[in-house]
Amino acid sequence: MLKADVVIVGSGASALNCALNLPRDMDILIVTKDTAERNDSFLAQGGICVLKDEGDYDSFYEDTMRAGHYENNPESVDIMITHSRDVINDLIGWGVDFERDEEGNLEYTREGAHSTERILFHADITGKEITSTLLERVRELDNVRLIEHFTMIDIIERDNVCLGIVGVDKEGKLTSVKADCTVFATGGIGGLYKDSTNYRHLTGDAQAICIEHGIELLDMDYVQIHPTAFYSKEYGRRFLISESCRGEGGLLKNSKMERFVEELLPRDVVANAIFAEMEKEGSEHVWLDLTPIGEEEIMSHFPNIYEKCLKHGYDITKTPIPITPAQHYFMGGIKVDMYSKTTMDNLYAVGETACNGVHGKNRLASNSLLEAIVFAKRAAKDITEKYDTYAENAKTKGEGVDFEKELENEKYTDVDALMERYKKLVLDEIEKERLNRE
Ligand SMILES: Cc1cc2nc3c(=O)[nH]c(=O)nc-3n(C[C@H](O)[C@H](O)[C@H](O)COP(=O)(O)OP(=O)(O)OC[C@H]3O[C@@H](n4cnc5c(N)ncnc54)[C@H](O)[C@@H]3O)c2cc1C
Repeated sequence: MLKADVVIVGSGASALNCALNLPRDMDILIVTKDTAERNDSFLAQGGICVLKDEGDYDSFYEDTMRAGHYENNPESVDIMITHSRDVINDLIGWGVDFERDEEGNLEYTREGAHSTERILFHADITGKEITSTLLERVRELDNVRLIEHFTMIDIIERDNVCLGIVGVDKEGKLTSVKADCTVFATGGIGGLYKDSTNYRHLTGDAQAICIEHGIELLDMDYVQIHPTAFYSKEYGRRFLISESCRGEGGLLKNSKMERFVEELLPRDVVANAIFAEMEKEGSEHVWLDLTPIGEEEIMSHFPNIYEKCLKHGYDITKTPIPITPAQHYFMGGIKVDMYSKTTMDNLYAVGETACNGVHGKNRLASNSLLEAIVFAKRAAKDITEKYDTYAENAKTKGEGVDFEKELENEKYTDVDALMERYKKLVLDEIEKERLNRE
């Protein structure tokens, strides 16, 4: 059995920012399903939004709400925007390097459905820059342990108080973790879909565990399809062609090389237009022409995309690339309050796995890293303030609980079957919610 004051499940940007904002005298354990670096936070390309100046508030707010079909929680949107500069300053303080102009001022780019440039970036590998820096800072902390290849398969709870988790390592060995507070930072659900830009091991395990334990979920049918993933016949993760490519002038074309949609409309609108065009033409993809961006801008802003496409035989400075929409982001998830607390005591959820309603029905580009980082910091603050209460809760409810004996639960005898059942539970829940809404 392992013990910690706080156990954080996942090692993406939300998990790491939560750990960094918890007190240094807290014993923190991070467990993660794969290696520490294999998560969607490392894949983020385009950038991270920030409130450029006070004058941009109304426009940023309106862009976020419009993209979300006005189904967003206004309070979450306000919190995300008003705290954006603060967390960007944290990131810079930790050593994150955003692009700057010749005078050293931060540079901003633009993506679909933004009415102005308000996105900070680091070439086309912003997520790697942010998350690898956070990971370095976390690895420097004496009070944080990190265990890789450790998959959470359940929680241990009594009377709606979370007492810790059950996990399994690469060899199939089960271990219980006793913790006063648990934080789910398990990311998206792309691994449940054939075509997704997400890592395949992100399969909504936390959502399934919530269903099993009566923890509330929200907007489970709000799944974002990204309009432009590199088309491939092969099975596996789809390579994303960042929205900022369209923000910088990339054009969508059909097989006759004619434009058929306004490229900077919200993601869902553009994705639907592509699906309609593919159906009309009977094709499996459309084309994205990045040549209008110009070779110089392509090489400086999108070097990673350039290299990846070149490997597949496409020089994006000269020729259009085949693209298709793919599952990309999960707006729904585990219902949380404004401090990322779930409906179970001693349990928080942060990042893509959580739903505080900030994105409504459709996420605005580059708002997810921001949301993950802002609300993970708020979770850390809340946990710190309420820690004594949680410790007392855990002590009272944990009395008589044998954490070793918990592992003898029959449902853990076939972990593979359990994980397959979990996948189905989540997909069924998404479908149920979709039908409810009709
Ligand atoms: C290709 C791509 C490009 C993107 N570009 C942008 C962008 O430019 N700007 C932007 O704002 N957003 C972007 N996003 C979205 C953004 O990257 C994610 O929403 C965000 O990084 C999610 O962070 P997270 O910490 O919630 O989850 P993740 O970073 O995905 O981390 C989830 C972690 O949970 C772990 N985990 C999962 N299940 C378990 C389990 N059962 N037990 C233990 N560990 C578990 C995983 O191993 C992983 O470490 C992009 C996403 C993708 C896929």
